[in-house]
Amino acid sequence: MKTVESWAQDRFHEECAIFGIYGHPEAGNLTYLGLYALQHRGQEASGIVTYDGHAFHSRKGMGLVADVFSDARLKALSGHAAIGHNRYATSGGNTLENVQPLTGKTAHGNLAMAHNGNLVNADLLRSEMEASGAVFQSTTDSEVILHRIARSEETRLTDKIVDALHAVRGAYCLLFLSEEGLIGVRDPHGVRPLSLGKLREGYVLASESCAFDLVGADWVRDIEPGEMVLVNEKGVEFFQPFFHNAAQAPVKAQCVFEYVYFARPDSHIFSRNVYQVRKRLGKELAREHPVDADLVIAVPDSGVPAALGFSEAAGIAYETGLIRNHYVGRTFIEPQQSIRNFGVKIKLNAIREVLAGKRVVVVDDSIVRGTTSRKIVKMIRAAGAKEIHMRISAPPIVSPCFYGIDTPTRQELIAASHTGDEIQKYITADSLRYLSMEGMFRAVHNSQDGSSAHFCTACFSGQYPIPLAHAETRQPALF
Ligand code: AMP
Repeated sequence: MKTVESWAQDRFHEECAIFGIYGHPEAGNLTYLGLYALQHRGQEASGIVTYDGHAFHSRKGMGLVADVFSDARLKALSGHAAIGHNRYATSGGNTLENVQPLTGKTAHGNLAMAHNGNLVNADLLRSEMEASGAVFQSTTDSEVILHRIARSEETRLTDKIVDALHAVRGAYCLLFLSEEGLIGVRDPHGVRPLSLGKLREGYVLASESCAFDLVGADWVRDIEPGEMVLVNEKGVEFFQPFFHNAAQAPVKAQCVFEYVYFARPDSHIFSRNVYQVRKRLGKELAREHPVDADLVIAVPDSGVPAALGFSEAAGIAYETGLIRNHYVGRTFIEPQQSIRNFGVKIKLNAIREVLAGKRVVVVDDSIVRGTTSRKIVKMIRAAGAKEIHMRISAPPIVSPCFYGIDTPTRQELIAASHTGDEIQKYITADSLRYLSMEGMFRAVHNSQDGSSAHFCTACFSGQYPIPLAHAETRQPALF
């Protein structure tokens, strides 16, 4: 039987963004803007499918949103309805067939689909379907959903989708575009975020509300775990198709790492503003792990809100000690291998005038492999800092994510096999402390309630709320 680790190595870890719109004459253009605002969730590939009442139009390509879509290409994406997707997959699978939205022709008409999240039983479903003759076009998890919809014997499209999803386990926020309208679904555990916004003309659905701000939409509300929404010329309709009452609903498992690192600070997800949560994470960290120091600096950009919170709670001045180069491309050629810490120097540089002779608290959101922290500590030390106290605004990452965040295998996660003291030595800091699980949830809830109920903490706790079903362990239905 495969272990969880070996299973993880086989998977593509997909981080993604989805955006959908219905009822606006410039649906394609607005989807482009929405995806642009959601670029942080996926940089490998991007795609948009529009519908103009007669035909579907599609454009997909590898690269950043601004590179995939030109003026001329956007003009060709005509229509009043659209869905779009940004994708980032770490291992393999970076080919055009895997770029979403996926499209297909079913007995019910044309259907385009965009997926954010990772399924845990896609291999099993796929091999069953292949055995019965299905031919897959891509290697993404998501295609099994499209096949199951095409095979469903239900009559209405919304029922076909629900029927297809009954067999699917894992994390998914899905957008569908059909002749009948725009459909959004969030998985019953609500792992990834999905929100509804309203334009003067039409509605939008997006992974994060920062996309609404750019297109001029007002945030309406989060789509609930297990909820389906249909938007068409009649307006908006909500369904709870997976369970009939709250008692039947599976436990919510919203991804807490969205707050810690992944989402943009200006977004409102799972009913809270991300910036405010991050700032409170920093405050809790200062309370749990105080330190006598001269200044607090952040590892930009992700560590900035927590560092501000730390500074405020500790009463220690916040300074900018590291500058990030925002123009670093993925295809940078290393001309001089012999330069020490070259990789991190491309991205970050220390300000000697701020750091020299100082006792410095360095706040970052997470340590994954430990290589970045080690290089940063060395860089700050080389800039003349007297003491370096690393503070991490989340607990140690000990387990990989199988629900849509790109984390390496357990073997590569430094905290999976090393104690805090060992990691401190490895990164060469004078001290290293992590926020506790309770502290993290006090910050999330903005109260003394440190309970992790309703959240997925798998990367920090190793407890997977959705069983990791794979071909060798056939899991029974969950909901
Ligand atoms: P590492 O060198 O592997 O320890 O990387 C740590 C850095 O990676 C931290 O500064 C985090 O902000 C950042 N980070 C954490 N999670 C992710 C992720 N899923 N993708 C990219 N960067 C991440």
